[in-house]
Formats: sequence, C-alpha cells, structure tokens
Amino acid sequence: MKFKCKCKNIIKEIKKATIKVIDGKVRTAESLCECGEYMEEVEEEFTGFPTIHRKEPIHSMSGLVAKANESIKRNDKK
Ligand SMILES: [Zn+2]
Repeated sequence: MKFKCKCKNIIKEIKKATIKVIDGKVRTAESLCECGEYMEEVEEEFTGFPTIHRKEPIHSMSGLVAKANESIKRNDKK
C-alpha cells in the first residue's frame, strides 16, 4: 500500500499496515507523517508516478477466465 500526505508530495510505501481507529477515522498507524497528519492511501490507479511497474491483473484474470471457460466446455462435451 502506498500512502501520501497532504502537506508535501511524500509517498510512503507501507507493507505491513496496522489499522487503528483514530478520532473516529480508520487510519494506518505507520502512515503518520512527520507533520503529525495521517497520510491517505493512494489508489493503485494513481498515475502521478514517473515510472509505473504495474502487474497486469486484468490480463491475467481474463486468462484465468478463458482457461476456466475452456475446461467448462470440455466438461460439457462429455
Ligand atoms: Zn505530512
């Protein structure tokens, strides 16, 4: 998970997030910024990064679906 603070454009990668409820809001303990604010989670689709090393979950998913459909077809032919 990536977190970003409002104060600066700091992006922090947090691998093990500890979820806490602080002031009635769900926060990640590790996302506490130097400024004292909690960072907000950055969506994976966020395009602000100059380089994106993205896996293609959609492609691999459609591949799995295709394989599943194939095996279903085979079973139907029995
Ligand atoms: Zn900050």
